[in-house]
Parts: sequence; structure tokens; C-alpha cells
Amino acid sequence: MTNYICSVCNETYPIQETRWKCECGGLLNLVKSKADSQNKWTSHPSIWRYASSMDAGEDLKGWPSVTLGEGQTPLLVLDETESNTFVKVEFMMPTLSFKDRGVAVLVTLAKQLGVEKMIADSSGNAGTAIAAYSARAGIDCDVYVRADTSPKKLAQIEAHGAKVKAVKGTREDVAAAAQLAVEEEQVFYASHVYNPYFYEGTKTYAFEIFEQLKKAPDTVIVPVGNGTLVLGVYYGFKELLEANRIDRMPKIVAIQAEKCAPLAKAFENQEIIAKPVRNEGTLAEGIAIAAPARSKQILEAIRETKGTIITIGEEAITEARRKLAAKGFYVEITSAINYAGYLKYSKSKDEVIIIPLCGAGIKSN
Ligand SMILES: *Cc1c(COP(=O)(O)O)cnc(C)c1O
Ligand SMILES: [Zn+2]
Repeated sequence: MTNYICSVCNETYPIQETRWKCECGGLLNLVKSKADSQNKWTSHPSIWRYASSMDAGEDLKGWPSVTLGEGQTPLLVLDETESNTFVKVEFMMPTLSFKDRGVAVLVTLAKQLGVEKMIADSSGNAGTAIAAYSARAGIDCDVYVRADTSPKKLAQIEAHGAKVKAVKGTREDVAAAAQLAVEEEQVFYASHVYNPYFYEGTKTYAFEIFEQLKKAPDTVIVPVGNGTLVLGVYYGFKELLEANRIDRMPKIVAIQAEKCAPLAKAFENQEIIAKPVRNEGTLAEGIAIAAPARSKQILEAIRETKGTIITIGEEAITEARRKLAAKGFYVEITSAINYAGYLKYSKSKDEVIIIPLCGAGIKSN
């Protein structure tokens, strides 16, 4: 079995049900096993074709009883007039968002560990995914959310039999309430932020783009709140680079809402860690994270790829949603920000760019 390693003090821990952070408080990463085996990719039509490239793959052997068919989403040219701009249709997932990539892996691990109950906190989509996969795996689940989370996402969570715990307060208050319950009940914390297995799932986003394009793109547009897709993209392409399957990293162009942009501020001020901001309220509820726990890692990844962070105002979000729908793509409001970011980004001629369509239109109003 692989180990967790603390990102602050390097202490290591065995993978165990109730371990979710270091004794020093630091976030845990996975000790990379270096058992890379990209030549063992299979033709399975899901993220599990890349199981040999997931660290701690042996902890994930039980995936066939957990999978809902996540992954292998279409990569399509957005518009005939811009043949180098592609959308990756991540809303064509079992629970209608890209979170399924990470959650399928996290819940497979939980089942392997014999977990009977898990707790998660979410701005919505991670919660809907965890509810579905925990139902599939036969594990009880409480999902902590803000009281004003989109009612459609709450209905989706409850449909799977998970318990919604609505918390009045900020997204950070929600996380704190979940963590308190995890400690009190001594159960598995199914966190897409703290548990590094999540990124073993989201990195398949990069592997799929590589297989679909047969090369690396120049630029990937990625929304960023807690950074689960940014970090997945970064790890995925990094591993392809180390295996000499691509010859340079794509540039990560991350997108935040102007009304809640701690990472953009830190990036601009060349800070190593993002200072918490106040969420002034944005339509992009799925990325409204005022104090992202992995800010250091996220900022490092963006800087290393010579990327940047673009902020988007509220009007541009609704406008982008309309424009995408006019092209046939109906996304949830949060997801429209990715296209708005693309429209604001000054691309060069022939630049190959990927825009993710992260969540389905029917998830939000
Ligand atoms: C989760 C989510 C994001 C952002 O992901 P982070 O991990 O918070 O950076 C963006 N869009 C949608 C639709 C999401 O569900
Ligand atoms: Zn530590």
C-alpha cells in the first residue's frame, strides 16, 4: 500500500479510514509510487482504462463494483470558424459534472478500507457525486452544504439517500462543520480538497485529452475554486511529460469570478499562499471558494506552466451561458465562466485550446 505524506513536514502515514490531515495540520499528498505504467492503459470505456497510472492502484482494485461509467467524455470543436478551440463535454458524466472522475476513485478507496459511513462538504457538485457513488458502494453518507445551494443539487443528493446537512454561513463554515462531525463520529472524510486520491481521478482529464488530440494542447482553460481540476490537469500532463509522451506542458489558464478571486489576487501579487478573501457573492457558486486550502500547490502549478489567472465579472458569466446555449451546449451557470474566460483570453493564431464544460445546465437555475 501507498502512504500519505504531509505537504508541510513530510511525515508519512499509512492510508487509513480516519486519517485526513497531518498531526501538524498540514495537507496530505500521496507518496508517488513511481510504478508508472502508461503502456498498460486498457481500452475500457471509462477513467479506469488509466488504472495502471493511478498511484496506489492496488488500493483501487474494487473499482468494477463502484464505477458508474465515468469518463471518456467527448472532445469537440466548438465552432467551425475556430478549428483549434475544443470543448470537453464534462457534463456528460453519470452525475452531470466532472467531479465523478475524482469521486469514483475516492469512493473505491473507501470501500476497500471497509468504510461504513462518510462525510463530505461541497458547494454542490462534489456532494451530488459522492451521494451517487456512496449509494452505489453501499456506504452511508452525510453531505454538508450551504443553506442556499441550488435546490436541484440538493434534490439530486437526497435522491440517492444521502443526508443533506444545510449550514447557515460561508463555504468555509460548511467545511468546518463537516470536519467537526468527522472528528466527533470518527468516520471517513470524503473530501475532494483534503483527500489526494481525488486527484488520481481528475488527472484522467489530461490523459483523455492527450488520447483524443494525439498530442498535448497549447493551453487548457480551467475553472478554479479549490483546484481539483487544476491539480488533476497539472499532474496528468506532468506524468505524460515525464514519460516522454508529450514534449512540453500545456499552459494552465485558470478562471475565477471577480467577486471571489483569492488565487487571482495572490497570483498578481506574486504571493506563495493565497490570503482568504470575502466572497462578495457570485453566480458561479461552484467556484466561490474564499480560502482554498491547496492554494500553494495551485499557484505553483499555474506558474510552472507559464499560465495565468483571469477574473470574470457577473454579466460576462450570464452572457457566456447564453452564447454556449446558442451553439447547442447547455451548461450550469458556474460552467459558463470557462467560456467567458476563453473569450477574455488573448490567444495567438493557431493556439490549440481546451475549454471544459464542467456541469450540466439543469443543475442550476
Ligand atoms: C467543482 C467545480 C468547479 C471547480 O472545481 P474546484 O475543484 O473547486 O477548483 C468548476 N465548475 C464546476 C461545475 C464544478 O462542479
Ligand atoms: Zn505535517
